Amino acid sequence: MKDQCIFCMIAEGTIPSVTIFEDDDFRVMMDINPASKGHCLIIPRKHFDNIYDLDHETAGKLFALATDIARALKEALGCDGMNLVQNNGEIAGQTVFHFHLHLIPRYAGDDVKVGWVPHKSDPDELKSICEAVSARLSSD
Ligand code: 5GP
Ligand code: ZN
Repeated sequence: MKDQCIFCMIAEGTIPSVTIFEDDDFRVMMDINPASKGHCLIIPRKHFDNIYDLDHETAGKLFALATDIARALKEALGCDGMNLVQNNGEIAGQTVFHFHLHLIPRYAGDDVKVGWVPHKSDPDELKSICEAVSARLSSD
């Protein structure tokens, strides 16, 4: 529990939320300002600022839970698609600094905006980025 963290307070139930699911590790709640019908958030009970902090065990359980929630949303709402969004850092749109995964159901003709402008790539730059990143991954 991190002091003054609104999602820690929601996770532990001090602040109420419209909760779809909860277990020992997670709470899944409706987003208070939804981008679309059914927009919800998966939050770990334990505080992690962002993805750089998240441990493998929590990350694995979280994504497994996301598959269940996504299927339940699709069945319940009949959405046409779904975006999973996870923002890290202010520049990336993070406003609550307790890790959370957005599930945003999509409907034909909706006004949700999730995206980027594709740029032409430089093959040498792709290769050097690839090498720099892969060199930092351990094999264990
Ligand atoms: P971020 O921009 O950090 O990726 O997403 C934060 C999300 O949390 C936003 O979609 C916002 O609507 C939602 N949110 C912020 N405060 C609350 C709250 O008190 N309750 C709920 N249910 N959602 C919240
Ligand atoms: Zn927190």
